[in-house]
Amino acid sequence: MSTWSGTTISTWDRQHVWHPYASATDAPEVYPVVSAAGVRLKLADGRELIDGMASWWCAIHGYNNGALNRAVTEQLHDMSHVMFGGLTHPPGAKLARMLAELTPAGLDRVFFSDSGSVSVEVALKMALQYWHSAGRPGKQKLVALRSGYHGDTFGAMSLCDPVTGMHHLFGDVLPRQFFAPAPTRPFDEACSDSDMQDITELIANHHEEIAAVIVEPVVQGAGGMNFYSPDYLVRLRALCDEWDVLLIFDEIATGFGRTGKLFALEHAGVNPDILCLGKALTGGYMTLAATLCSDVIAGVISEGEAGAFMHGPTFMANPLACATAIASIELLLSQPWQRNIQRLNGELAAGLAPAAELRHVREVRTLGAIGVIELEQPVDMRTVQPLFVERGVWVRPFGRLVYCMPPYIMNSGDTASLTAAMVDVVAAIR
Ligand SMILES: *Cc1c(COP(=O)(O)O)cnc(C)c1O
Repeated sequence: MSTWSGTTISTWDRQHVWHPYASATDAPEVYPVVSAAGVRLKLADGRELIDGMASWWCAIHGYNNGALNRAVTEQLHDMSHVMFGGLTHPPGAKLARMLAELTPAGLDRVFFSDSGSVSVEVALKMALQYWHSAGRPGKQKLVALRSGYHGDTFGAMSLCDPVTGMHHLFGDVLPRQFFAPAPTRPFDEACSDSDMQDITELIANHHEEIAAVIVEPVVQGAGGMNFYSPDYLVRLRALCDEWDVLLIFDEIATGFGRTGKLFALEHAGVNPDILCLGKALTGGYMTLAATLCSDVIAGVISEGEAGAFMHGPTFMANPLACATAIASIELLLSQPWQRNIQRLNGELAAGLAPAAELRHVREVRTLGAIGVIELEQPVDMRTVQPLFVERGVWVRPFGRLVYCMPPYIMNSGDTASLTAAMVDVVAAIR
């Protein structure tokens, strides 16, 4: 492929490919990548970009990693795929065991799927089927938070922020859920009772209809890069227990070290009833997600009317993906990863700090290996994207947010170049 010219790729792409959240008829420029290694993406024209996005939270070990390459190649020689109905295989069973051990006690049953959105659909079905089997079929609604993001399939979309998730486009087809305000209490503060007032009233008034609450713990990602108080989760757990409502944590973005803990829920010491994992699960090599639940939930569902959990993706527990996930987790845990995330946090905070002085910047914030410059006004992607590429970095802003979540292997020099480019571009678009 690398022998093809960038112009041909771009032409065919423009003629036939539809990109995420993009127009097909008035498509903005896309940059052909021919290879990637370490933290660098190599473009067809020979330029190299320092990757500040880790391919949307995924590529925590960077690209073309020896250990992950080896895991894929070795698994390829055993089998690339086999159906999971009636069959199992070493990588699937081993990864399930690892995830059950790494996550909080009580999340011992693992359901694999092929993407984050599907793992959220699976979590929804688990919650609904649980209450159905428990003899309370009236509990069918979810509570989600404003500014949340849980994926693009219909069930997941119904849980995204109603405004940025554009619920009006899909009208009555979308299930109607309950929404509570986005948490606003900062990461390093405890909540007050008034922070919990709206969601408390919502649950108290509608608990007969509510199956579960779903949140992204501590970091609301694509819905606004909002970092909030872990104490919110402590209080939310108590609320769910009080009113017999399940608690679902979507750690698809935050899992595997990104916030400084292996899972963001550890900031609060709170355990959900259902947990969604994805994105960095395979180190960004392959698409794989998992939904974990307690043996109690699995038991109630299994002993209910259907006698089974009613879901089964074709590529469930794909062996290549599972083997890569095992290698990625082993690689992460074999290093002083907490110290490294702390280093990155210090470098991101120091590097982005000058942006806080700019008048059109509302706030600069960091948590773990996430750095955010929030502007007063949305950026114009068509002008901003080339500015980053000219400066040799890959950063893809959305709305008012210019943010990065680099691969954990990024060294101090590259992190400095990345943050300097972010500050520079933000200053240039005032
Ligand atoms: C990306 C994301 C999803 C959706 O995952 P896909 O693999 O894109 O389907 C769901 N929840 C959160 C928090 C995410 O960041």
